[in-house]
Amino acid sequence: MSTNSMSELRELVETPDLNGAYPRLDEAGIAALAPLGHRRRVQREEVLFREGDRDCQFFVVLAGMVASVEGYGTAEENVISVHGRGRFLGELSLLTGEGSYYTAVAAEEGEVLAVPAGRLRELVARDQDIGDLILRAYLIRRSILIGLGAGLRIIGSRYSPDARRVRDFAARNRLPYRWLDLDGDPGAEALLARFGVAPQDTPIVILHGRMLRNPSNAELAAAAGLPAPSASAARCDLLVVGSGPGGMSAAVYGASEGLRTMVLDGTATGGQAGTSSRIENYLGFPSGISGAELAERAMLQARKFGAEFVVPAEAMSIEEDGGQYLVRLTDGSPVTATSVVIATGARYRRLDVPQLDHFEKTSVYYAASQAEALLCAGDPVAIVGGGNSAGQAAVFLSRHAAQVTLIAREHDLSEYMSRYLIDQLDRIPNVRVMLGTEVRELLGDQALEAVAVADGRTGGRSELPARALFVFIGVRPCSGWLGGLVDLDGDGFVRTGQDTGRSALETSRPGIFAVGDVRSGSAKRVAAAVGEGAMAIRLAFERTRPG
Ligand SMILES: Cc1cc2nc3c(=O)[nH]c(=O)nc-3n(C[C@H](O)[C@H](O)[C@H](O)COP(=O)(O)OP(=O)(O)OC[C@H]3O[C@@H](n4cnc5c(N)ncnc54)[C@H](O)[C@@H]3O)c2cc1C
Repeated sequence: MSTNSMSELRELVETPDLNGAYPRLDEAGIAALAPLGHRRRVQREEVLFREGDRDCQFFVVLAGMVASVEGYGTAEENVISVHGRGRFLGELSLLTGEGSYYTAVAAEEGEVLAVPAGRLRELVARDQDIGDLILRAYLIRRSILIGLGAGLRIIGSRYSPDARRVRDFAARNRLPYRWLDLDGDPGAEALLARFGVAPQDTPIVILHGRMLRNPSNAELAAAAGLPAPSASAARCDLLVVGSGPGGMSAAVYGASEGLRTMVLDGTATGGQAGTSSRIENYLGFPSGISGAELAERAMLQARKFGAEFVVPAEAMSIEEDGGQYLVRLTDGSPVTATSVVIATGARYRRLDVPQLDHFEKTSVYYAASQAEALLCAGDPVAIVGGGNSAGQAAVFLSRHAAQVTLIAREHDLSEYMSRYLIDQLDRIPNVRVMLGTEVRELLGDQALEAVAVADGRTGGRSELPARALFVFIGVRPCSGWLGGLVDLDGDGFVRTGQDTGRSALETSRPGIFAVGDVRSGSAKRVAAAVGEGAMAIRLAFERTRPG
């Protein structure tokens, strides 16, 4: 991949097709797209779309070369890719409505086919061959942008909780970003000086040339162009609360059955599954799929059928309102629905150790995705937990960290971990497993340096170096917002089906269903949540469209 500046390039070289990121349409593919748009000549240095533009056209290069350039016209100009005949431009933002993360500029005179964004979305939804080729390429291009650290600039101190919140929000929502650490990155100060910001006024985010001072998650979402509610969304047939696998599945099936469907999520689409580096046991993906990719695909699929997403939007309460249900969001806005699917899943449990709050700001993580892996590259890390989430994290982090220590209370990993993961761990040289062991103390000054552990049988104490601690010790249900409207079990999970005397997946209130991890007795698996989401819709459909 080229990282030269446009002005420095004498001879442009087309970027190779990296794992299907930049496929070339053949003549039949170009002919199939031609009726959707119009052909036009382009001049050298003509800008086809600019960084920050929304709903740009979809361009296929017919002659000449077009470059995708970050920071075009600035001192930090960076050529991301260069395309010749048959290549198409853009990335995922063309389908999601986010602002573009780079500028497309003709590097030489040529010709393009320009297709309106709306037509592209229709094409991706209905054409299996070209649609899938484009979607796949766009998903890979987004991963490339994330890997390159293109897109947003987040500048702040590694010790600032707000900087961590902003980074987490960007990572969970798959917004490409570069993190500039005030306590170690020389570029950070220069950028602050350019924007006239004092270090104590960080974190700041620079997005499409605009500066946001310590933005809330909602402000960042709006600036990036993440989906916001439309005026008509305040009333719908089906309200899905939570967009993990269960909620996404309910949204796909609900919208495809013609129900006016709205999906809310307090944090990001994808739920817990979205934080998984690789889901290996989901049907149809023999080599596994990252949770982020599964989430992106599911969201595009649900939107294709007309489901409306609002992120971030956290449900705060629910009440009955004349045969309908009224859900209020934390910003006070109401949504009324005939049926509600509760798909709010579960959240990680926290370790019971002193100083957890302090280290959570900098060095304790509850997910192990690419974003966390980059932050602890080359460091020793510790993982607590004996289940599949901990095992997956160990396998994934072993590729980035110098040493991974898995600390489990169990004396035998097979109690909670799948065999395939135990076998994988056995084969990785930089993974060490400590069984029958508990974390007792977190050691360090501002950031974590080591953890103290104790042997469960002998009580013997030892210390091991760790710059990051990953915690996977189980979950608790996100059901607090239901405020007693539906029955819960003793642990706070939502009762459904036989437990409530109603049909399967229906809660103690008619028309309110619960699916996935938040449901009492659920299997805590992606496939189970997806199956339940589909099944709940059949029941919701009967209620919404009686007869
Ligand atoms: C790291 C990790 C790896 C995993 N790997 C696997 C695997 O390989 N295979 C497998 O089968 N399972 C795996 N799991 C388990 C799997 O991810 C879960 O079973 C699945 O995600 C449950 O889906 P869900 O839709 O019920 O809820 P969740 O995925 O928990 O999603 C719930 C969503 O609801 C949102 N939410 C919560 N409260 C509110 C509110 N009040 N308002 C609005 N939104 C709200 C949350 O932000 C979240 O996005 C893994 C889990 C983790 C954490």
